[in-house]
Amino acid sequence: MSSYGDDEIDDYAYGLDEAERAARPIVILTGLKRSGKTSIRKVVFQKMSPNETLFEESTARVTQDTVRSSFINFETVEFPGQLSPFDANTEDMFRRCGALLFIIDAQDDYTEAQKTMAQYFAQAYQINQNIKFEVFIHKVDGLPEESKLDTNFELFHKMKEDLSEQGLDKIMNTVSFHLTSIYDHSIFEAFSKVVQKLIKQLPTLERLLDIFNQSSNVEKSFLFDVVSKIYIATDSSPVEMATYELCCDMIDVTIDISAIYGSKNDGTSAFDEKSYAEIRLQTEQVLVLRQLSKHLALVCILRSENYEKKGLIEHNFNIFKMGIEKVFRVRKQMNSGIPHSNSSQVGSYQ
Ligand code: GDP
Repeated sequence: MSSYGDDEIDDYAYGLDEAERAARPIVILTGLKRSGKTSIRKVVFQKMSPNETLFEESTARVTQDTVRSSFINFETVEFPGQLSPFDANTEDMFRRCGALLFIIDAQDDYTEAQKTMAQYFAQAYQINQNIKFEVFIHKVDGLPEESKLDTNFELFHKMKEDLSEQGLDKIMNTVSFHLTSIYDHSIFEAFSKVVQKLIKQLPTLERLLDIFNQSSNVEKSFLFDVVSKIYIATDSSPVEMATYELCCDMIDVTIDISAIYGSKNDGTSAFDEKSYAEIRLQTEQVLVLRQLSKHLALVCILRSENYEKKGLIEHNFNIFKMGIEKVFRVRKQMNSGIPHSNSSQVGSYQ
């Protein structure tokens, strides 16, 4: 089969063509002042360490950013707490909006935040009914375990009441709640779920990962955007936080080792589209990382006895990579109107 180059997988991020790229989806961050909006943006997309956010000044203006050097292709727009996103001429922005996030400080009294959130969601829904509404119950690192769930429950019901008073119960079907903190991996996990809803090819990617797992005896696998450590897809088995954290740590270790011991004289990074790594754990498990392109990596975990047949896994990985290339090629052909006669083969590699 004719193969697409590594960069081309990235070029077809979300299968967008030039025009669609220019109109990339927007993720809007809202919430009251000091709820943690800027910290989230900086920790997830700019690699700021959580402790550094303590010294960050509060942002008083609208901040627009494009996520770069990444497979993920969207714009983030952050509105400061004191400014309603509907005051300015923002209708076009909401028409392009893929997800509207509302950040709530769970360590503070959230009565006002909850009212503002219901109002924003109702207004945004009037402009664009396809927006995904995402509530980040944030700073949960300071809360005991049982009160995290109580807060989630209380917010859900108050929000339902508020929206049904306005005759907008149906919005609740598109609202998701996440318990988050910048001090652990929960913020990356929550953002992963937000991003996955914006990826049109998600069901096919999940199917490909399922087939890869079955044919290679792998327990769990993630398709990671390496820079942000957001996983853009995983197989259909449930995600355990500890496994996700292990896989994130694997990426950090690989990047760090490459930077320290692999730097080339011309200053280019040693971590590239051909990078791979494996780490054997005390638990008789093996973590395996394989780059698919400059920005995308497959990270999986399997029992060490199932890693004896490395050749088989290598072979399945190559087929998996071809499957991913096909997914994005078919999408590209659909966008450009070229018939895609072999589209039925997508996901059927064995
Ligand atoms: P913004 O006004 O909504 O942009 O809020 P900031 O991002 O400026 O954050 C306000 C404060 O909350 C800062 O001191 C952050 O360090 C702190 N903060 C942000 N996220 C968290 C979190 O997950 N846990 C805790 N404990 N503090 C956080």
